[in-house]
Amino acid sequence: MSAYLVKNVSILGGEPTDLLLEDGVVAAIGSDVGFETGASAPSSTNGGAPSSTNGTDEVEVVDGTGLVALPGLVDLHTHLREPGREDAETVESGTQAAALGGFTAVHAMANTEPVADTAGVVEQVWRLGREAGYCDVYPVGAVTVGLAGEQLAELGAMADSAARVRVFSDDGRCVSDAVLMRRALEYVKAFDGVIAQHAQEPRLTEGAQMNEGELSGRLGLTGWPAVAEEAIIARDCLLAAHVGSRLHVCHVSTAGSVEIVRDAKRKGWNVTAEACPHHLLLTDDLAETYDPIYKVNPPLRSTADTQALRAGLADGTIDIVATDHAPHPHEDKDCEWAAAAFGMLGLETALSIVQETMVDPGLLDWAGVAERMSYAPARIGRVADHGQPIEVGAPANVVLYDPAARRTVEPAESASLSRNTPYAGMELPGRVVATFLRGKATVLDGKLQ
Ligand SMILES: [Zn+2]
Repeated sequence: MSAYLVKNVSILGGEPTDLLLEDGVVAAIGSDVGFETGASAPSSTNGGAPSSTNGTDEVEVVDGTGLVALPGLVDLHTHLREPGREDAETVESGTQAAALGGFTAVHAMANTEPVADTAGVVEQVWRLGREAGYCDVYPVGAVTVGLAGEQLAELGAMADSAARVRVFSDDGRCVSDAVLMRRALEYVKAFDGVIAQHAQEPRLTEGAQMNEGELSGRLGLTGWPAVAEEAIIARDCLLAAHVGSRLHVCHVSTAGSVEIVRDAKRKGWNVTAEACPHHLLLTDDLAETYDPIYKVNPPLRSTADTQALRAGLADGTIDIVATDHAPHPHEDKDCEWAAAAFGMLGLETALSIVQETMVDPGLLDWAGVAERMSYAPARIGRVADHGQPIEVGAPANVVLYDPAARRTVEPAESASLSRNTPYAGMELPGRVVATFLRGKATVLDGKLQ
């Protein structure tokens, strides 16, 4: 296996240094590491492909000037669609998109066909991830059989399987039955699991199409009220505290939800929460276009909600950013709003959106980004080999990012099999230059390897 010497890179925005990735780990950090001859880096373009095998002949040099090194990103909320909807995404294409976005690990949601509600299906997804080799894939197990919300799935068998499932979710649907939710929270304590809830009170959101407000009335689209999210989050926080278990709240979208999570944390309850990049940046007035590219669940909310989410992410109330990458083939999105599928792509743009909404306005520094997009999601998912600081001896899961770059999002360039990005044509800051998974480059010079 070749080694990589990243010259003059800024780890988490700190002073430039050299970073040697060798034998799957961070082998050395500091000036003049790896080159006892003192040979200087070749004059490659900024972050360009390695162009030297100087000195020790298997060491490839990457010019890290101007680049920030972050720990490999970990997504707690990805839809890879395989098995069953390989027309939308496969484990291979989805993990390619993940690598291009700087991710070294993703959690694959259970709403596949068949549903990932048995040891057999989660092992299949886990194995596909290993075979593809772009990103470690951690399957999420369904909470209930077939996501039907009627009986608990084989949580223990999935936890004991080769996939070692620790995160369970019916995402796409809410575990709305309070008794089932309580049983699930109790059950996963045995193996330190967590229930990741898609908080959506079903009766309050029947036929819901967009954020409930003045605009939904004017557009004639059925509203999805904030209270339908907040009521479930409040209930689940109380249940988790009552049984002493871990709750994770998926895609928090309202200011009221942020308040409820903040209050639960103040009480010392074991509750974590995520926000999605699209909820940090985009607002419900985009529905005025009637373009279903903006249709997502939970829906885009108001400017006040995006501000509350940003503040919550900054102060740690919201623990992590998760993408809710949700690929759909064009026939499921290129139709009238009411008939279109919910969801948008997210893996390849997540870091740029976080830079735009959090880093550039000064709400978060790069250490804060590492915490919310790598360390914390790995902790919540109980993933040992990811989410570690870039230190000597740590697994070489590293992303090199150029925050000074600008790029225009071009859907046709996506590695995803789907094209439903809401950022098409938008200019975003930053560019992932390289991603290393256990020291192997999955992305180099911005290109898949
Ligand atoms: Zn969801």
